[in-house]
Parts: sequence; structure tokens; C-alpha cells
Amino acid sequence: MLRTPAASLPPRAPRAAPHAWLFAFRGAELLVRESDLALPDAAAAAALGIDAAQALPVGLLGDTYCAAAVVERDAPPPAGYAFTGLRRLFGAMDEERLAVAGRASQIAEWARTHRYCGVCAAPMQRVAGERCFKCPACGHVGYPRISPAMMVLVKRGDAILLARHARLPTSRFTALAGFVEPGESIEEAIHREVFEEVGLRVRDLRYFASQSWPFPHSLMIAFTAEYAGGELAPDRDEIVDARWFGPDDELPEIPPPVSIAAALIDAHRPQRRR
Ligand SMILES: [Zn+2]
Repeated sequence: MLRTPAASLPPRAPRAAPHAWLFAFRGAELLVRESDLALPDAAAAAALGIDAAQALPVGLLGDTYCAAAVVERDAPPPAGYAFTGLRRLFGAMDEERLAVAGRASQIAEWARTHRYCGVCAAPMQRVAGERCFKCPACGHVGYPRISPAMMVLVKRGDAILLARHARLPTSRFTALAGFVEPGESIEEAIHREVFEEVGLRVRDLRYFASQSWPFPHSLMIAFTAEYAGGELAPDRDEIVDARWFGPDDELPEIPPPVSIAAALIDAHRPQRRR
């Protein structure tokens, strides 16, 4: 499961450090060197017109200063480099750097989508020392957006409930998941989504773990729950198939190990009782 590095990334202001990593994004795609997935050097950054002093601070990882930058939608990559989606880097780029890239991508996405004020359309300005854009005309402020989503593995006796989501183009099965609605607690979101998606009632919610998921800015908060009632009835709109998998059933294809869904399912694989 991908996690942000244990070393913290506290500073929000640029600082001098012996090493620097620049995470340059074009939309959701990260600039990497094609031969070895290295981050851009000074020449590559200059070729894209990135001013290092204007890059967005991400933080300090050991003695490496990490920053993010946004380039225009039509910017061509410098020679030897390519813009690549983060998902394609899972398993290819080292995990620590990939985890910082996940953080940097959310900061870049915030900058990319807060260039103008959402209230009066004036150009926004960065506030020094804070992760904040402020409108000089009306005072509206914009902080990085984080979208909480619940994930829940429903259990019934020795069996677990796995579902195939309509939006996934694969035959993969996973736990139920959905975004928290305005005004909802995470627990309310679980009860609502489970009922909407598969028609079941659940009880005994237990927290499992959470994971920042940079597509583009989700916070996945995972639980287990016990079946409490209802007939399994996938809504066919979001869920095309949902089944109980017990100790005697072969588990279907599940999400890749980088995701919290894999960790959640793995920790609760159906076991035969002795
Ligand atoms: Zn404004």
C-alpha cells in the first residue's frame, strides 16, 4: 500500500537544500526522463520555462527539497523526457519518490485549478508561507481540495462481499466505496452507500486505515462492517456485480497492492474455521 514517506514534509516556503526534486505536471501527468524515470534536471526545467523560485513548495524529504510546477496543457516535453500518468509509474518508480509525487500532484492540481477567483474571476495570488491562493479583488481564498471517500468491506460469517464497479473497465472485484456527501459523517456515508449500491444494512463499523489517493485528490477512509440485513441487490448503475466470497471460493482479481483496497481485502481473506 502506497504511503507518504515516514519523514515529514513540513516546510511550505522554498528553501535552499543540497538536493532538489522538481515534480513538473502537465494536467495530471508527471514529467520524467524516459530512460530511467528520473525527475527533470535544471536544463529540462529551463526548457519548459519553469522558474525554480516560483515552483510550489511540497516539502523537505531528508536533505532533498521537493517542489511542484504546472506547465501549460500544450507544452511539449524536453528531448528525452515524457509526461506520464502516475498510475503508470506504480511499480516502476521507487515508492518513496512516487509517494512524494502523489503529494506534489495534488498541490499542482490545486494551483492549476485556482488561477482565477471562483467568485469574481480576478487572477488569484499566492499567499506567502501558506498553502493558500487569495483573490486581491474580493478576498476569496482557495486551499487544496481534499475529497473524503469511504471504503467498506462487508463481512457475513466467514464470507466477504466484493463488487465489480461499472466505472472500472476490468473484471476486477473490490470493496464498496463512495464519496462523502456534504453534511454527512463518514459513518452515514457508509450506511447510505452500502444500501444504495447493494441494498444491504450493516452494523459494527470498524476503522481499518486511510490512504491519500491522488486521482485527483481523494482521501480513502477504509472500514469493515458486519452484515445486518437485506437481500443482495446490486444497483446495476454503479455496481454491475456483487457476490459473497467464502473460504471455499476462489477470490476474483482484486486491485493492485499499491491501493488500500488490496490491503483491506488481504487482511480479511476468508479463512476456514477450525
Ligand atoms: Zn475574487
